[in-house]
This record gives sequence, C-alpha cells and structure tokens, in this order.
Amino acid sequence: MAVIGAGMVGACVARYLQRDGHDVVMIDPLDPGEGASFGNAGCFNPSSLVPIAGPDTFRQVPKYLMDPLGPLSIRWSYLPQLAPWLIRYGLAGTPEKIKLQATALKALIAPCFDVLMPLVDDAGAQDLVKREGILIVYRSAESVAADARGWALRRENGIVWEEFDQAQLRAFDPNLTPDAKFGKYVPNNGHTVNPSELVKTIVDNVVKSGGRLVKAEARGFAFDGDRLVAIETSAGRIETDTAVLAAGAHSKVLAAQAGDKVPLETERGYHVMIRTPAIKPRVPTTDSENKFVATPMQLGVRLAGTVELAGLRAAPNWKRAEILLKRIGSLYPALGKDYSPNEITCWMGHRPSLPDSLPVLGRSKRSAGVVYAFGHQHVGMTAAPYTGVVISDLVSGRPSPIDLTPFRADRF
Ligand SMILES: Cc1cc2nc3c(=O)[nH]c(=O)nc-3n(C[C@H](O)[C@H](O)[C@H](O)COP(=O)(O)OP(=O)(O)OC[C@H]3O[C@@H](n4cnc5c(N)ncnc54)[C@H](O)[C@@H]3O)c2cc1C
Repeated sequence: MAVIGAGMVGACVARYLQRDGHDVVMIDPLDPGEGASFGNAGCFNPSSLVPIAGPDTFRQVPKYLMDPLGPLSIRWSYLPQLAPWLIRYGLAGTPEKIKLQATALKALIAPCFDVLMPLVDDAGAQDLVKREGILIVYRSAESVAADARGWALRRENGIVWEEFDQAQLRAFDPNLTPDAKFGKYVPNNGHTVNPSELVKTIVDNVVKSGGRLVKAEARGFAFDGDRLVAIETSAGRIETDTAVLAAGAHSKVLAAQAGDKVPLETERGYHVMIRTPAIKPRVPTTDSENKFVATPMQLGVRLAGTVELAGLRAAPNWKRAEILLKRIGSLYPALGKDYSPNEITCWMGHRPSLPDSLPVLGRSKRSAGVVYAFGHQHVGMTAAPYTGVVISDLVSGRPSPIDLTPFRADRF
C-alpha cells in the first residue's frame, strides 16, 4: 500500500493504515514535512469550521486588494488560469452552502485531538503538542460585528469559547497591545510548537514500525484495466494495488491520470519566524483585522498568514512576508522593531484548496485502487489526523465513520 506525499496528511494516513495492519510505503521527493506542513501556524483548531468562501470574505475582497499591505493578493498575470476557480469559489459561498460545508468540515476536524494524540503518544512527540487554547483579538466593536456570522455558525456547531474584554485580555497576555479591546479564547484548540518536526516524528515512527520511505516523485499510475498495479516514480516503478494520493497542492495532475478533473488551486501563504523574540504570545493569537496568527514555537515566534493567488510556479513575493513583520508591532509592541536578516527566516508554502473549502476524500473514478486525501486548504494540520482514520477505514473496507458525499472528487 502506497501513500504519495509525506506532509501532515500523508503522515497521518500512513500511520493509521499501518496501525490497521497494512504494509506502507511513503513516496515523496522531499523530506517529510517540507511542504505546506512545514510553515503553517501550527494550530489544531476544531473551531475552524467556517468555510473561507462566504459573504464576509467577499465583502472584504475589494478593500483587501486595494491595500498593498492587505491579507489577500492576486498575481494578475495568473488571472486567466485562476478565473474558473474564482467563479466556483464565488458560487460556493452562499449562506445555505456554507452551512452544509461547515457541517462536513466539522465531521472531519471535531475529533482532531482524539485521533491526533494516539499518533503523538506512540511517536513520543508529546513535547511538540500543546493543548492550551488559542486567542482571537479585535480592536473594535465593528470588527467583532464583521465576524459575527462566523461565530454564530460556530455556536450552532457546538464550539465553545470565552469572551474577554480589554482587562481580561491584558490579564491573559500582558504583552498584547492595549488596543486589543475584545477577545475570544477558544480553550479546546491547541497547537504544535514545530509542525515540520511533528510530521517528521510521525513518519519516523512509520519507518520504525516497518514502513518504507522512498525519496522520489510519483509521476503516474499503471493500470491493468481498472486495477491499479503500480506507481511510476522518478526512482522507478513501485508495485502496489492501492495508492493514497496525499500530495497536497500538487495532487491535481495525478488525480487527472486517475480520471478526475478537480479544481484544485494553491492559496499561497507566508510566514516570518522571529528567531530572537523579546517575548512570546502565551498561545497562538490571531490578529483579526490583519488576518495573521502569531504562534509561540520552539524556534521563536511565527507570524503566519496572508493569501496570494499566483499558482504553483511563480517565485515568492517576499514583500508578502514583510507585511507580517510590519504588522506585528501593532499586536505585540515588544516584537515591533527592525530585525536584521539573521534574526528572522521567511517562508512561502502552498495551501491546497478547492473552491468550497472541503478536501477531496474517496476513491478515484478510474480505479478503486487510487484513493484521494488532498485539498485540506487552511485546516490541514487540524483535519489530517481524522483524514487518516477515514482513509484507513475506506481502504480496509469498513463503513465510513462520516458521510463522504461532500468530499467526492466529482462534486463540482
Ligand atoms: C501560512 C499558512 C498557515 C497555516 N496555518 C494552519 C494552521 O494553523 N492550522 C491548520 O490546520 N492548517 C494550517 N495551514 C494549512 C496546512 O498547512 C495545510 O492544509 C497542510 O499542511 C496540508 O498538508 P498536506 O499533507 O496535504 O500537504 P503538504 O504538507 O504540502 O504535503 C504534500 C507533500 O506531497 C509531496 N509531493 C508533491 N508532489 C508529489 C509527487 N508527485 N510525488 C510524491 N510526493 C509529492 C510534497 O513534497 C509534500 O511533502 C496553513 C497553511 C499556510 C500556508
């Protein structure tokens, strides 16, 4: 049994398959955890069930695009290729559809810790996971009101949080700006202090437990009729009757070979790591107006966020990362200074995104031997563990614990 891609999704799928008794080979040209799973904000957020495409996002788009320091940018030369995805994105964001998408997403992310912790425990990675909640801060009542629809949807779906006023925010994290007037503390969320290391540790455990990791690029499938017989890779042919495609934003070409044309795009995101921070946030803290997260990590403070629509091939625009650094002083004044290049590192990565904020999970059109597990957009760290369970159940022939209809490849 093969898993294509050794990001957080591939790692969790591989380990759950292995715990189910399957022999597993993982295939990736990079070391584990070097794709999108390297540089994210590290949050495990069962509360992140609000689809990104929706009226609240759409309302803000013109403002975001006019602002060179804004959280969204489009590389205009990429627009012709992007247009079909953008149209679908717009169509996916009606209030009725959002409720259905939120229900589907909730099924995938609500069990996050129940199924993540067994993987963390048996990999010996307890130091890498904190279950201390996350904080979202607002500077004005207008900003709180602008997010009200999303919080109502969370409430309907059973998410609990505590409301903080200015004094409670200061008491919770004295380093926060006094401009932070309102806060929402979500106690049942958590984070990893090193996302890439967490993936590597889970994959190491797969290998220690008898699995194989092949450093190669999967280039195609070989079928005998509708039966998968092998994966063609840059290191030769790997014979297998089952392949789980978990190559994140790079899954589209291989899915097409398995008969499915999926509208998968990359929402490129950036981070800046402050390696010598004067202070660290107490928990991952979202600046709701500026749309980024400041996460306390092993190697410093990570500022992660922004969306850039520019495809898989364009070079990074490091100004997108500098924006995050420019903004941090308005959230944590003690972090707002000019950093020398050796005090920071910058990164860009590819969120794998379908227009309706849901991943693709299930068997391919061409062959039951090709199984999809990609497209986890902004919540892949959170959704990966239960994706591992769902895929393992599917491959092992057990009834699915969740309704897979919303995740079908042919839903568009
Ligand atoms: C700035 C930012 C912040 C984020 N913050 C959060 C957060 O706080 N919480 C959260 O839950 N999510 C967050 N995310 C989203 C999350 O990072 C992704 O959804 C998740 O990492 C996707 O995991 P993946 O395993 O599908 O993809 P990846 O981690 O990209 O892994 C895919 C792997 O497939 C490999 N691959 C590609 N092509 C091939 C091929 N042909 N053959 C073999 N292997 C191949 C790649 O090398 C890569 O290792 C964030 C993302 C970004 C960009």
